[in-house]
Amino acid sequence: NRQVTMAARPVGEPKLTDFGIVDTEAPSPGPGQVLVKTLWLSLDPYMRGRMSEAKSYARSLQPGDVIVGGTVGQVEASSNNAFKPGDVVLGYAGWQGYYVTDGSDLRKIDPAAAPIQSHLGALGMPGMTAYTGLLNIGQPKAGETVVVAAATGAVGALVGQIAKIKGARAVGIAGGPEKCKFLIDELGFDAAVDHRDPDMKAKLKAACPDGVDVYFENVGGAVWDAVFPLFNDFARIPLCGLIAHYNDTAAPEGPDRLPGLMRQALTKRLTIRGFIVSDFATDGPAFQRDMSQWLRDGKIRYREDIVEGLDKAPEAFIGLLRGKNFGKLLVKVA
Ligand code: NDP
Repeated sequence: NRQVTMAARPVGEPKLTDFGIVDTEAPSPGPGQVLVKTLWLSLDPYMRGRMSEAKSYARSLQPGDVIVGGTVGQVEASSNNAFKPGDVVLGYAGWQGYYVTDGSDLRKIDPAAAPIQSHLGALGMPGMTAYTGLLNIGQPKAGETVVVAAATGAVGALVGQIAKIKGARAVGIAGGPEKCKFLIDELGFDAAVDHRDPDMKAKLKAACPDGVDVYFENVGGAVWDAVFPLFNDFARIPLCGLIAHYNDTAAPEGPDRLPGLMRQALTKRLTIRGFIVSDFATDGPAFQRDMSQWLRDGKIRYREDIVEGLDKAPEAFIGLLRGKNFGKLLVKVA
């Protein structure tokens, strides 16, 4: 059973030597347990948070632990009546080839209804994040302007397309001309701006002639600085992620900008609300219904970035924090 562990706690950007590859005996299920073989592993930015010691909404990994992660797998053996060999299941095996569970974390999925790995992307946690954060906090209305960063990624690509379905204008921010072209040509965004362009601020302003009503924040840093002056009165900001800061080791240099932020929040009556996808768990059935329908109707499209083999996971994960992935990042494990 191949496992990828956190060999050492990363400082700043993770290095390949922070990861360990370990081979152990495949586990066998005890009474009531299920043995699951991993087929697909999802790589997600939150895993960087788990590698950190800082207190957060979930427990930190300790050196030597198998890294956590959502997976789609197949039941190999079961002494739990709810599962039988061959069942395809969504679970939480982490970065390893096999795991044993009591089944409480497993959900059976229908391989005939949609590609099984889509339960780690558009039909899974990232899709639910986009849907619940945008609709509950962003509340886009027809004709409004919605801006999203990391716009070609697992969450961002869906945010822009759901905004379009709700009749809003979608403006995406992404790294590089190829990603920007994809947003317009393939996903139907109204405008796209490259955050590596030295003229990003002016180009974003030109792309938002009526200001910004909703900003779905995935990034922080220079991207936030470019969006911040454009907010309209009563703009809503679902605060989903701050990936530009996940490898930070110290507070940024420079003057204290908090008073400026607070002043704008007051005078423009901004709503900035952080959320974790599980906050809106009761929206699960509505999300499954709407997203399945939109995918069937071709109203929502997604792109996957697939790497083959668990051994490639560390390098791919380091790349995710640098914008190397183009679409939902997945590891095909078996
Ligand atoms: P993505 O598939 O979007 O991959 C990450 C992308 O972030 C990269 O491709 C890159 O895109 C962009 N990025 C990385 N570093 C920077 C940087 N310094 N400046 C600007 N952009 C950068 O990941 P996800 O869709 O899975 O996640 C997007 C965000 O949503 C993350 O912040 C994540 O933590 C958050 N999240 C939050 C959840 C919640 O419950 N609150 C749940 C799921 C995700 P590009 O090349 O375009 O710059």
